Amino acid sequence: MPPQTSSSKLRRSPAPHSLVPSLLDWFAIAARNLPWRRTLDPYAIWVSEIMLQQTQVKTVIPYWERWMRELPDVAALVAAPEQRVLKLWEGLGYYTRVRNLQKAAQQIVAQHAGHFPRGFDAVLALPGVGRYTAGAITSIAFNAPNPILDGNVIRVLTRLFGIRGNPREKTTNAQLWLLATRLVQAAADSQPSTLNPQLPAPCSALNQSLMELGATLCTPQNAQCPQCPVQSLCAAHREGRVGELPNLSPRASATSREFHTFVMERGGKFLVTQRPAGGVNARLWEFPNLEVTGLRLAPETSAKQLLQVTIRCEPLCEVKHTITRYRITQRVFRVRWPSAEASVPAHTRWLCMPELHALPFTSAHRRILCRVAAGI
Ligand code: SF4
Repeated sequence: MPPQTSSSKLRRSPAPHSLVPSLLDWFAIAARNLPWRRTLDPYAIWVSEIMLQQTQVKTVIPYWERWMRELPDVAALVAAPEQRVLKLWEGLGYYTRVRNLQKAAQQIVAQHAGHFPRGFDAVLALPGVGRYTAGAITSIAFNAPNPILDGNVIRVLTRLFGIRGNPREKTTNAQLWLLATRLVQAAADSQPSTLNPQLPAPCSALNQSLMELGATLCTPQNAQCPQCPVQSLCAAHREGRVGELPNLSPRASATSREFHTFVMERGGKFLVTQRPAGGVNARLWEFPNLEVTGLRLAPETSAKQLLQVTIRCEPLCEVKHTITRYRITQRVFRVRWPSAEASVPAHTRWLCMPELHALPFTSAHRRILCRVAAGI
């Protein structure tokens, strides 16, 4: 038997245009009713797309609704003080995203007279906007035939087309972008769905149908193939390879890190510090803390190192969280400040509870603050 060629493999894959009607009709009836799907405002769609990076839909909904109430357009975002913008983002994490949103809004005012640009290249030139996000905004807001490729779409396309290569490798990634392009271009040539007159325009609907399929049916585990609108055309389903695709290399295992964190009270006020500009979680607030990974320090020793005072530490709680590849444990201690005269470290402030609640905190320290406020 002759060796299998790439063209014979492709012959077993569905033609992009054959998938489009089923995807559009399915999206017409199955699309979740998400608040950012009720608008064509590119600003609102942009904010939703940035929030949805690394964050689940159900988490994003209340954040997006509050953001749109408080900062409804580019001008409002440009005018907002940084601390207010950070407060609106507090808890979503990955704060570079929100800093880039404000930088991009400033660029829109400077270069586009405050009007959100329509062209793909102009959208791609905004800080924090990559190829996926530019494709999502321009296809959803303007029905432009620009492709999208994120984790959900990669999963759907590798399974539908039976692609065995690692999607993180250059050649396979380029192949997936090409397929995504062919699909959205085929949608541009198609008739709008008759099943739902409210359905978005075809390029928008096609891209969103791929995202939706990956989020709801073609999931990493337990894909719901019997309910899938394109099951009859799916190479992975036909060949029994759904569980094998996408062929992603295993991620590096998480690294454990440990911090000692000190909740210090003096006369109803608590000592907090603002993180420096330019680093991780820049200009967010937190309780004084010290990384002790591998050091096996007693909390009194780390408190002395951090605060230059000798104090007795009483365990308060433990807060665990994960950021990118780090599994972080905060061991939190309650301490009484030794005397009113003792000087506090630079960049720290004593603040009362209402003042603390008004500040943007990092997610872990917000949890610590809530526990302290609840008296736990
Ligand atoms: S048939 Fe299954 S594996 Fe194929 S696209 Fe649909 S849900 Fe995904």
